[in-house]
Amino acid sequence: MNDVPTPIDPEAARRPVREAAPAGAPDPGVDVKRLQKEILAELTYSVGRSPETASPRDWFVATAYAVRDRIVDRWIVDHASKENKPEKRVYYLSLEFLIGRLLFDALNNLNLTEVAREALSGLGVDLDRIRTAEPDAALGNGGLGRLAACFMDSMASIGVPAFGYGIRYDHGLFRQGIRDGWQQEYPEDWLSFGNPWEFAHPEIDYPIGFGGYVEQVSEGGVARHVWRPAETVEAVAFDTPVVGWRGRHVNTLRLWSARAGDQIKLEAFNRGDYVGALADRVRVESISRVLYPSDETPAGQELRLRQEYFFVSGSLQDLVRRHLEEWGDLRSLADHVAIQLNDTHPAIAVPELMRLLMDVHGLDWDEAWKVTLATFSYTNHTLLPEALESWPVPLMERLLPRHMQIIYLINALELDAARKRHPGDDGLLASISLIDESNGRRVRMGQLAFTGSHKINGVSALHTELMKQTVFRDLHRLHPDRIVNKTNGITFRRWLSQANPGLTSILIDAVGPEVLDDPMRLEKLAGMATDSGLHERLIDAKRANKVALAKVISDRLDIQVDPDALFDVQIKRIHEYKRQLLNILETVAIYNAMRAQPMRAWMPRVKIFAGKAAASYHQAKLIIKLANDVARVVNSDPTVRGLLKVAFLPNYNVSLAEIIIPAADLSEQISTAGMEASGTGNMKLALNGALTIGTLDGANVEIKEHVGDDNIFIFGLTAQEVEARKRRGYDAHAAVEASSMLREVLESIRNGVFSPDDPNRYRGLIDGLLAHDTFLVTADFDAYFAAQRRVYKLWRDRAAWMKASVVNTARVGWFSSDRTIAEYADDIWGVTPASR
Ligand SMILES: *Cc1c(COP(=O)(O)O)cnc(C)c1O
Repeated sequence: MNDVPTPIDPEAARRPVREAAPAGAPDPGVDVKRLQKEILAELTYSVGRSPETASPRDWFVATAYAVRDRIVDRWIVDHASKENKPEKRVYYLSLEFLIGRLLFDALNNLNLTEVAREALSGLGVDLDRIRTAEPDAALGNGGLGRLAACFMDSMASIGVPAFGYGIRYDHGLFRQGIRDGWQQEYPEDWLSFGNPWEFAHPEIDYPIGFGGYVEQVSEGGVARHVWRPAETVEAVAFDTPVVGWRGRHVNTLRLWSARAGDQIKLEAFNRGDYVGALADRVRVESISRVLYPSDETPAGQELRLRQEYFFVSGSLQDLVRRHLEEWGDLRSLADHVAIQLNDTHPAIAVPELMRLLMDVHGLDWDEAWKVTLATFSYTNHTLLPEALESWPVPLMERLLPRHMQIIYLINALELDAARKRHPGDDGLLASISLIDESNGRRVRMGQLAFTGSHKINGVSALHTELMKQTVFRDLHRLHPDRIVNKTNGITFRRWLSQANPGLTSILIDAVGPEVLDDPMRLEKLAGMATDSGLHERLIDAKRANKVALAKVISDRLDIQVDPDALFDVQIKRIHEYKRQLLNILETVAIYNAMRAQPMRAWMPRVKIFAGKAAASYHQAKLIIKLANDVARVVNSDPTVRGLLKVAFLPNYNVSLAEIIIPAADLSEQISTAGMEASGTGNMKLALNGALTIGTLDGANVEIKEHVGDDNIFIFGLTAQEVEARKRRGYDAHAAVEASSMLREVLESIRNGVFSPDDPNRYRGLIDGLLAHDTFLVTADFDAYFAAQRRVYKLWRDRAAWMKASVVNTARVGWFSSDRTIAEYADDIWGVTPASR
């Protein structure tokens, strides 16, 4: 960090250096010298370091502050006055935001990446080095949380005025380590060195009640309910500005942190019970401590429900206050507010809004219900029965007694109306009821969210169709106008421009810089799909990305892989329905074949896995162990001669995805048909030129329609066929009988070929697969193996492969989350984007 320019005048550096740039205008002060000055000023006065002693993290923080200042100027302009208020705002409620690092988001959207690179370089600092000093914000598990993050970027980019609301977890998703092949969970500490993007607002706080009882009071002859909670927590706001493309709009991500109210501390302190007071405080503040508390114990389950209510209530109180300030009357709430529920995690918002409208603001039931229904909409993310959220009635009654009353009344009114329209149809009533009476009484959050929303959306065409036929079949019959499809998307700014600058610059040369504003421009590329000059450039860019990934694999795993081999990647949460096991079985089949015929001309390939398993999901953790056991055996077998390598990269997160995706040749999207709601990893990989091997599941179906049958490898049972097999009672033995290859694979795993240290390790796994193959791994094995051979055949013809790859990139512009958000705005929210 030497070569520091002469010190600047510190007073001048401290003064605000910019006039606020009007929204949409190019920043007047974008030049290298100026940014350099600002970064140095931040380093000195905000971080408190000199350039000589600053660490990469210090430089990151100083740069983030300097960039943030430029965002704030626009943020303030956007939110300057009540007169300047937007006609309608969107509130996106999500328990998860899988954000990743933000520095390049901000730089890229402000068109400052090159300016910052030069400014830092002049100070002897490497931008790419400080980029990695930023912690990866993992306030989410996987696709659902990443979707929320992509949506925040898209709403700010196309000009949908919005707030994202969630929880500011002290600890995000656990860090995954792999020890002896087993997953280990370590605590994650993204806030330990502070967070330069956020603004703490200790003055913005709302009381959140739990427990207690409900009182009926009479006011002028009108009965009113008053909830008297037994305990109260404060929700405190932390704001992160979210700047959109070209800096035109800035929205807010407002995350809530729990703070013990003063009375808890004071009363105990006055009694002299200092330790007890602290313990109380720790208990109360544990609400925002961790993402997804363990659901193995009742205490963990209760904490999860507390989290849901905590962030919902804080968010609704906040938006109700804002609406009253701006518009004065809650009867017009739905004209100016659209609330999107990201899955059922925030579904308690339905009775909470009813409570606020009636008990606090005096609306009657009918008025309140009309407003509620017109304000909410709900996104469903899963059809898997075990993943549909429900809460025991006794727990709800104890924690949220007033909400339980409201839920009962909503239910009674809905059931009444349904009974009138379909007299005698008890099956229908049982299926639409908010209360599940079948296994202990439970509140079904899906039914609650549906009943309180004017629109319910699925996240891919297939998923939406299945939703109508399965979970919400009867609710759909009663409300046929409510279910709509909004196929997921991804932000190309992160998943193309930032992650893959090499490919991006080739695309700009090929179809013009307008592609950065309008991804549908990629279509033009299809006309150049056979252009050999283009192929050469793309191959070079891909190879550079593969070399970079090979270095990561070497550094982290000490496995050497050949950048010219086919990189076959499956990166996503580890889950039985996603069928990493199917991929591992195929790997073993190839390995067996290589050993049987070592001298055949095998095509070199690298199988790359990454993904976390839920801490309590034992089967998924065993599959991780199997992948690592297979890797160890295959990678060290001299007969294979390095032609097959297997690498399980630990700690999959957004930052690792940004390294793997640009280097992928083949994208594994092989879930049991009907089980993956959409997938978004499939879109990221196709955009970056990987070909998909996949089932007709989720958005794969639509990717196939866009890229064409010749440019994707589809195999296996369809959702309908899966359904039919399961109805008949699927028997794995027949499939295994019919396939000698599969039999050999299963036997070798079962007999300990990959676990000589513990030959019985996989006996249960394989026997279980034969006894009840819930995810139809054995049923699809042969078709999958055959599809892999088709992959090989195409890979051998590099020009044909590149043509297919170009077509993939060309035809997936539609999967931009800007398109998805424009559809939500038009069809669900009734908002007109300012920049589209
Ligand atoms: C995109 C993404 C996901 C979702 O991947 P799927 O393959 O759609 O399940 C999960 N985790 C991270 C870090 C991602 O970037």
